[in-house]
Amino acid sequence: MHFVQAKSLLTRWNGMNIYRGCSHGCIYCDSRSECYQMKHPFEDIEVKENAPVLLENILKTKRKKIMISTGSMSDPYQHCEEKLGMTRKCLELIDRYGFGASVITKSDLVLRDIDLFDSINRKSKSVLQMSLTIADDRLSKIIEPHVCTTARRYEVLKEFQKRAIPTVVWMTPFLPLLTDTEENLRTILDYCIDAGVKGIICFNIGMTLRQGDREYYYKALDRHFPGLSREYQKRYGSAYEVNSADNTRLMKLFHTTCEQHGILHTPDECFRYIAQMPEKSDQLSLFEDLEKS
Ligand code: SF4
Repeated sequence: MHFVQAKSLLTRWNGMNIYRGCSHGCIYCDSRSECYQMKHPFEDIEVKENAPVLLENILKTKRKKIMISTGSMSDPYQHCEEKLGMTRKCLELIDRYGFGASVITKSDLVLRDIDLFDSINRKSKSVLQMSLTIADDRLSKIIEPHVCTTARRYEVLKEFQKRAIPTVVWMTPFLPLLTDTEENLRTILDYCIDAGVKGIICFNIGMTLRQGDREYYYKALDRHFPGLSREYQKRYGSAYEVNSADNTRLMKLFHTTCEQHGILHTPDECFRYIAQMPEKSDQLSLFEDLEKS
């Protein structure tokens, strides 16, 4: 782990990454790809030490309340967060200044901050985005070795459901010839239905692979599933999109099931939902303005 002073924090989509690199060890992780030009080993986590200061400067000056998101490139609840509490500090600021928050994670450490999600959600809006990809715990321990299993993540979703904090599931990736089965899909969908998730983001029954990520993935396949990387190379060559042979049928099953249960199921509608601030926060800021005047 090493610390840096960042020059800026928010992307133009109001996302932030407090950490660069990740200790969860998912063998398919896209953030390892060379296109992101990381100058340090992926496991040597870069910590943007001044992230809370930068964030507070932004929140102080922004007049319009917006949703601030984190977790698209590295998990904000990876192991070092337990000690450093950087994500928690940022959530405290978001709560204090009346903004909305949305976090993508695979870790049950997020439960530590459920009080903050609750508080933000009462004032404006918070959304927990959780990845569920592998229902089989034995496989999950090989493919996502350093983070809690899908069954545990389902329990986390239930805790958020109890507090009426909305949740969205990232049901991606599905690894061809490993997890692209109807049984896996149905089990994860059952978890989502039972946990009352608002939406599910699933682009395809498949995954993406590119330079850097592909080599790491194939090495892991060679260690745990001998012969499988050769099969991938035969089927997909150097393709970016690597979809299951059963993609069309399983995607139909996915959309139909979500439709039956009133779950948002296209990426666009899920992203729109996550980014949208409810009117109540506009009302809250109006009251704050009236009080100040
Ligand atoms: S949790 Fe996300 S960022 Fe971390 S290794 Fe897994 S896929 Fe990559």
